[in-house]
Amino acid sequence: MVSNNIPGVLEVITGPMFSGKSEELIRRLKRARIARQRVVCFKPDIDLRYHRTSIASHSSQTHEATTVSSVERLRELLYPQLDDIEVIGVDEVQFFDSAIIPLAVELIALGKRVLMAGLDTTFAGEPFGPVPNLMAIADTVTKLSAVCMVCGAAAIHTQRLGQSQELVVVGAAGLYEARCRTHFRPFLDEHASEQLELVSVLEAPGTT
Ligand SMILES: [Zn+2]
Repeated sequence: MVSNNIPGVLEVITGPMFSGKSEELIRRLKRARIARQRVVCFKPDIDLRYHRTSIASHSSQTHEATTVSSVERLRELLYPQLDDIEVIGVDEVQFFDSAIIPLAVELIALGKRVLMAGLDTTFAGEPFGPVPNLMAIADTVTKLSAVCMVCGAAAIHTQRLGQSQELVVVGAAGLYEARCRTHFRPFLDEHASEQLELVSVLEAPGTT
């Protein structure tokens, strides 16, 4: 089944948080498995959301994934088994450094189907890590939108609600929400933070 003669493909799945990127990645990996293709999946160990040994979507779909600390480590684990693998998935790809780009190019040249999912922009609204380059060299780019939590329009941004300016806080409930262009405030929406505190007070047990 594995051929070195046919070029592979790179499929990038991107968009803001809560747009269903992981869910779409999991769906494609499961379809490949049903087609009896051999599948592996990796994610950076920065993603502490839910499980350390699987990828998870916000809608609680999961798929086994190997957690790796770097692209170099991903390569070390992948290459010994590469002859037996047809489909390679990578989730939260925005947290890998630029070495993920030549790796993707290599895997395509070896005839592999490479699926990479990740955020296209940071909470500051800027292009995120290697994702823009991966989108540029991809065969297909699926850019998903979420739903703006202010107005309900299609959302392309991830709004930071907390105080932390760290780039790497992942999947922490209540820290982020999806926003449309109109309602996106880079870095921090003070007003939303106040609203969030108010909501958590109102929803606290014993207050209703
Ligand atoms: Zn909006």
